[in-house]
Amino acid sequence: MKTIEATNFIEQIINEDIEAGRIQAVQTRFPPEPNGYLHIGHVKSMLVNFGTAEKYGGKCNLFFDDTNPSKEKTEFVDAIRRDIEWMGYHWAKEVYASDYFDVIYDYAEKLISDGKAFVCDLSPEEISATRGTLTEPGKESPCRNRTPEENLELFRNMRAGKYADGEKCLRAKIDMASPNMNLRDPVIYRILRCTHHRTGDKWCIYPMYDYAHPICDYMQGVTHSLCTLEFEDHRPLYDWVGIHLGFDPKPRQIEFARLCVTNTVMSKRYLKKLVEEGFVHGWDDPRMPTIAGLRNRGVPPEALLDFCTRAGIVKANSECQYSYLESCIRDNLNENAERAMAVASPLLLTLKNCEGGETEAAVHPLKPELGTRKVRFGRALYIDRADFSDDPPPKYQRLRPDGYVRLKNIGIVRCDEVVRLGSGEISELKCTYFSEEEAAVAGIKAKGTVQWVDAETGVDAEIRQYGCLLNDAEYPGQDFGERMNRDSERIFSGKAEPYLAEAADGTPFQLMRMGYYKKCRGEGGGLVLSEIVSLKDSFNKSSGR
Ligand code: ATP
Ligand code: MG
Repeated sequence: MKTIEATNFIEQIINEDIEAGRIQAVQTRFPPEPNGYLHIGHVKSMLVNFGTAEKYGGKCNLFFDDTNPSKEKTEFVDAIRRDIEWMGYHWAKEVYASDYFDVIYDYAEKLISDGKAFVCDLSPEEISATRGTLTEPGKESPCRNRTPEENLELFRNMRAGKYADGEKCLRAKIDMASPNMNLRDPVIYRILRCTHHRTGDKWCIYPMYDYAHPICDYMQGVTHSLCTLEFEDHRPLYDWVGIHLGFDPKPRQIEFARLCVTNTVMSKRYLKKLVEEGFVHGWDDPRMPTIAGLRNRGVPPEALLDFCTRAGIVKANSECQYSYLESCIRDNLNENAERAMAVASPLLLTLKNCEGGETEAAVHPLKPELGTRKVRFGRALYIDRADFSDDPPPKYQRLRPDGYVRLKNIGIVRCDEVVRLGSGEISELKCTYFSEEEAAVAGIKAKGTVQWVDAETGVDAEIRQYGCLLNDAEYPGQDFGERMNRDSERIFSGKAEPYLAEAADGTPFQLMRMGYYKKCRGEGGGLVLSEIVSLKDSFNKSSGR
């Protein structure tokens, strides 16, 4: 097989393996544990595993690491499959660690027969107390020198359910003085009475991840087992298993840096907590960094891949700014989203000297080939409340009493009268209309351009805006619970042009001066415009977001 031009260190290693004739084809696997939904960090892992296999014309399996039955569920398996498909990746085979439970068991018996594993009577607490520290060696278990025959009998009894949970375990016999703690006679099988989501109650002993994983990789013919950096210290154990079980060719583990993004939480444990404690509406809440959440938010999969590609596949850990993700989403939607208008906080504006008419709006200003569409307007319109001020700050570019502003595609208006309710709240702006020609002749200059919605044909729209889940840390080590942004979802009763209500559900739009929004429907079937990402425009910031 051929090498390719390497764009990262993993491809360099693969090229070396190809040149040395160590591999015939690239086989990888994407290995989620079905204990939660996939998040954007997993997109990076998909990019690495599926992407690398694809580049070399090889294969990538979907491997469910289901060795921890107490936390795993079929609901998560289904969600993971759906998310990978949505990202546009295809797996060669779908495999489960549990498919190999018999093989993994047989290999344990082999290790025992070879004197490489022993049954230990120490409790989990005793094992951890005798592991030693980084500076001191551990203490050998009193059971370490049992004969293979005795170990085999005890291990079979473990499998037969003769002991209570935690009463015994199987440990690899490696080196209690190893500087690598993972090699200090690690536990490789434990007794756990727990119904497994696939194997039911067949087993009351389950293999540990570090032991099962190299076997599953080997059984699948994995050539390169690509994982994140926290497994670097586990690699010697991965290799130990391969060497002592005589794997040939032995899969090669390569670690890369995790994707970390500011202002959000990425670990499934925390995401689960957010869901269970009701902080968000579910795993697919649009604020969640889960793939389901991002999909529901309206983020295109291409933008996620673009983000992970630009973040790069490297060996050193680093943190990406959330704003960088947003700019990848914007880049994509700027290309692909049609333009339309809506207002989040409607304020009535009436034209004293104009009956209204029809105006032409560009469908997509970057794509003139898409043409224009007609937008009708009457003498009553809505603008956004934030676009009028009777006490404007310096450099205010919008409407003020006696000031001028341009209504997009219509012309210029001057605010002649501000009508108020008894409460003092502004209820209407009475304005004089000037066509662009009239304004030019009279030398009238508008301060800025604002969007509008026709009052008669405009439709009610629930407008949802989202902030980050997490505020920046105020001090190092600050707990994420304290950093929660309690105001991350805001809902407005707005107005939108009817074109938005007619669009297919899920269509993304750039709403002028507001941001990118996804058209969807609320429970009662009403129009909902849900924010995908804000504009770089300062409008949102100046309105206090
Ligand atoms: P979490 O810590 O969020 O629970 P995990 O590592 O337990 O995630 P797994 O289901 O075990 O999640 O992960 C499947 C694969 O995705 C693993 O190879 C893991 O290394 C990788 N992965 C998980 N999080 C990230 C991330 N932030 N960046 C890159 N890869 C990741
Ligand atoms: Mg994990």
